[in-house]
Amino acid sequence: MSSFEGKVVVVTGAGRGIGRSIAEAFVKAGAKVAVLSRSEGSCGPVAESLNQQFPDSAKSYALDVANFDEVQTVGKQILADFGQVNILVNNAGVTRDGLLMRMKSEDWDTVLDTNLKGAFNTVKAFQRSMMKAADPRIINISSVIGLIGNAGQANYAASKAGLIGFTKSVARELSGRKVTCNAIAPGFIKTDMTDQLDEKVREGILSSIPLGDFGAAEDVTALTLFLASAEARYITGQVVATDGGMTM
Ligand code: NAP
Repeated sequence: MSSFEGKVVVVTGAGRGIGRSIAEAFVKAGAKVAVLSRSEGSCGPVAESLNQQFPDSAKSYALDVANFDEVQTVGKQILADFGQVNILVNNAGVTRDGLLMRMKSEDWDTVLDTNLKGAFNTVKAFQRSMMKAADPRIINISSVIGLIGNAGQANYAASKAGLIGFTKSVARELSGRKVTCNAIAPGFIKTDMTDQLDEKVREGILSSIPLGDFGAAEDVTALTLFLASAEARYITGQVVATDGGMTM
């Protein structure tokens, strides 16, 4: 595995699930990590446990990624604490599922503001620093739902498809400064988010996965670390699925 010694990584939604796995893997690979989540109760213990294993490797920051001003303020604090940012992983995400007939306007706004505007907010906070940093990488965690849609997830699908358009535009805009920007489209990964699904829905999903199993957070993490590595310098504006073959 590549070494990330000397690199500073910001991971949003790192209090649990996929984001936590990504933050832990970067620290194990030598990076320093800003661990962001909605509440100190989730990101605090993640940073604490990382610092116990690897002293001074992590700091926690509680914020709402959907709030532009809050993200800029926390962003300034992160740059003051670490001096630079090389790698940004936009992973924070939420679902508010429901058929369109019943979907409330707030459900649409919460999902779009968190999953899509959240990425805009963090890129605004860190792009200047990243343009000057070594091997700068932005990785946006989208979803297969952004590629194929899903009944009951119009808000989520729109946010994740929007994130793909955002990824390609950022990739083009920052390419002159060698900042790469890619999206990952995970399929169904075992986390708190998918544990909410009822048994019938889970069985239906399983039957649509050629490899016949749900993914693990580590599957997304391995791809994230590769796209963030120096070896991935020539890959930008891409959407890479890790989905057991669901969308082939
Ligand atoms: P999860 O277990 O529900 O964790 C979500 C994380 O995002 C939490 O740490 C949460 O903070 C944070 N978060 C949510 N809203 C936030 C906000 N407004 N501001 C800051 N942080 C916020 O989710 P997951 O399953 O690991 O999913 C991670 C990402 O992968 C999401 O973008 C999701 O859409 C995407 N994804 C997941 C799957 C899957 O099958 N699990 C599939 C495709 C894509 P707290 O811990 O403080 O609540």
